[in-house]
Amino acid sequence: SVELVGNFEVFMNWVDEIRDMMVRTNADNPRDAKKAIEFGAEGIGLCRTEHMFFEEDRIPAVREMIIAENVEDRVKALDKLLPFQREDFHGIFKAMDGKPCNIRLLDPPLHEFLPHDDASIEELAKQMGIRPSDLKKRVVDLDEFNPMLGHRGCRLAVTYPEICIMQARAIAQGAVLATKDGHKVTPEIMVPLVGHVNELKMLRPLIEEAVNEEFEKAGVKVDYTVGTMIEIPRACVTADEIAEVADFFSFGTNDLTQMGFGYSRDDAGKFLGEYVDKGILEKDPFQVLEQKGIGRLVQMAAELGRGVKPNLKLGICGEHGGEPSSVEFCYNTGLNYVSCSPFRVPIARLAAAQATVKKRKGDSHRDK
Ligand code: PEP
Ligand code: MG
Repeated sequence: SVELVGNFEVFMNWVDEIRDMMVRTNADNPRDAKKAIEFGAEGIGLCRTEHMFFEEDRIPAVREMIIAENVEDRVKALDKLLPFQREDFHGIFKAMDGKPCNIRLLDPPLHEFLPHDDASIEELAKQMGIRPSDLKKRVVDLDEFNPMLGHRGCRLAVTYPEICIMQARAIAQGAVLATKDGHKVTPEIMVPLVGHVNELKMLRPLIEEAVNEEFEKAGVKVDYTVGTMIEIPRACVTADEIAEVADFFSFGTNDLTQMGFGYSRDDAGKFLGEYVDKGILEKDPFQVLEQKGIGRLVQMAAELGRGVKPNLKLGICGEHGGEPSSVEFCYNTGLNYVSCSPFRVPIARLAAAQATVKKRKGDSHRDK
């Protein structure tokens, strides 16, 4: 088995010599990030910061923040969260040691952090020292019929800017600590679910102000970029406007498939199997990027974006980033990198190399 492992490494080294598209990983903590580096990841393409909010030591502050009735109380709760987030990002920057780290601001609707059944609400109210009826009211207020189309992503940051500012500060403070530890740090701050350029126009200055203030306070200078997820069809169609205010795009093809087809990510499994069996669809579009429709949206956004900014950095962080035929599509569309879960990184490396070979072969045919 030692020989097998050795051969595998030799083989993957060949693969990497051929490959000319980067492969990153989706990772939410230093442990996953380190594992992904062992698998050959060249950066983090998506750190979903919401996962950090669920951890036992900070969920009480998260819930205080959510049920706060005014800005002052919300900021007080966010002040409690800040040191946790600072350490989260410090750890990730250390683990990545200079490789780019794309950190996405809070994405899910806030009610995901609250219990919904009466018994749990009652217990939580007791823990928090508030009336169960008050907590229940807040849960009901936040409830949505269509949460995936609801109050989430950058819409949270627009309505509760203090959440976005806390996260921006924590990213900067984590970057300062990692820099002082002797690491190079390359943060990319990503705004989720942008559908209108004005969302990014409003949020970008807030993020920059918070980050720059932290760097000035610490007397440390770190280069960072601010960009956006492209995961709403309208964002693809208006990508030229969005590119004016974004340093990078990362395609969220999970949501883009959901909103492009109008298929719920959470429920479409109930009929998609039959769609495939009956030949309406060739493949499950949540597994394999559907190229004629969703892929065209990706191409359109890439072209519009690069038309405005020729060097606009493009990546993908949806599940498709680790699926070979989708990786080939991303390569042919000119993406700088794909990002996928740690265990799919070697497959993505191989698929990227195969796409490179295939394209070169095609090009040389055309030359003749
Ligand atoms: C996506 O929508 O493709 C994405 C990467 O974000 P999430 O899966 O967290 O919605
Ligand atoms: Mg998404």
